[in-house]
Amino acid sequence: VIFGAIEGGGTKFICALATAPEPSAIVESARIDTSDAERTLAEVAAFFRGRGVEALGIAHFGPIELDAASRQYGHVLSTPKPGWAGRPVVPVLARELGLPLARVRWATDVGTAALGESRWGAGRGADPLLYLTVGTGLGGGVLVDGRPLSGLLHPEIGHVPLPRALLADGSPDPFPGVCPFHGRCWEGLACGPALAARTGRAGESLADDDPAWDVEAQYLALGVATCTLVLSPRRVIMGGGVVESRADWLLPRVRRRLVEYLNGYLGRPELAERVDEYLVAPALRDPSPAIAGALALAGEALGEGDVQPDTTGRGGR
Ligand SMILES: [Zn+2]
Repeated sequence: VIFGAIEGGGTKFICALATAPEPSAIVESARIDTSDAERTLAEVAAFFRGRGVEALGIAHFGPIELDAASRQYGHVLSTPKPGWAGRPVVPVLARELGLPLARVRWATDVGTAALGESRWGAGRGADPLLYLTVGTGLGGGVLVDGRPLSGLLHPEIGHVPLPRALLADGSPDPFPGVCPFHGRCWEGLACGPALAARTGRAGESLADDDPAWDVEAQYLALGVATCTLVLSPRRVIMGGGVVESRADWLLPRVRRRLVEYLNGYLGRPELAERVDEYLVAPALRDPSPAIAGALALAGEALGEGDVQPDTTGRGGR
């Protein structure tokens, strides 16, 4: 049995073939540059066609329709990405690969990454699990009972409003934020482009001792504190380009701020002396957490999901 996995992002689509629904069984993968939906999906279908794929899992940028009862199920919703709004990604790929709709399963990129880290990475044994990525955007996926959470839509954690951080002189941060919808939401304050707009320099070229990092750490901690209070995750994984290259010193700063903000209120060692185990970096790199999670979705679509070892310690689902 051949399983297919896709990680669909704004700049690239990663496609992978595997002989079992797990990362170690990947036999081939390819990168396709993202253009409009029609051309991108045609190239994706061409990679998988004729390879005997029996189930497909997709980790896709949002917003996307996950409600199986909706006529828009499997479609991309409103997005500023040119040529993607309203496009029927799941129906097109199912048709092109000759698969029934039920053999194609999708979730948000971050929700799928949470699933991948939960099965094979830094999220093992932690449910609910929160996976955050801080890069060009800021997003989060929530895993509950082993599944990416969706409901009215799906979590859009990056857009929660946050209070102002304090600058080194104790004054409130005047930065207006970069989110076109909300200005000073979490993404608007802390994503890579926000860091660049704040400092006038790309994050990669900022010195480790630049004061902007203290402001960044405050916003990352304020957002994690919000998520911790709302969702009660048992662990939080934080990755993405802004964090990963400097996780060694940035994550400890974020942890310190997190403990400070929560101020002992939750009374758990995970938010005190064991915070190193609570807020952690991702463990999966190649394949990515999203590709790993997409393989798990493909396995579930074929009905093999339930034979996976239960790592949550919560019994079946
Ligand atoms: Zn926003």
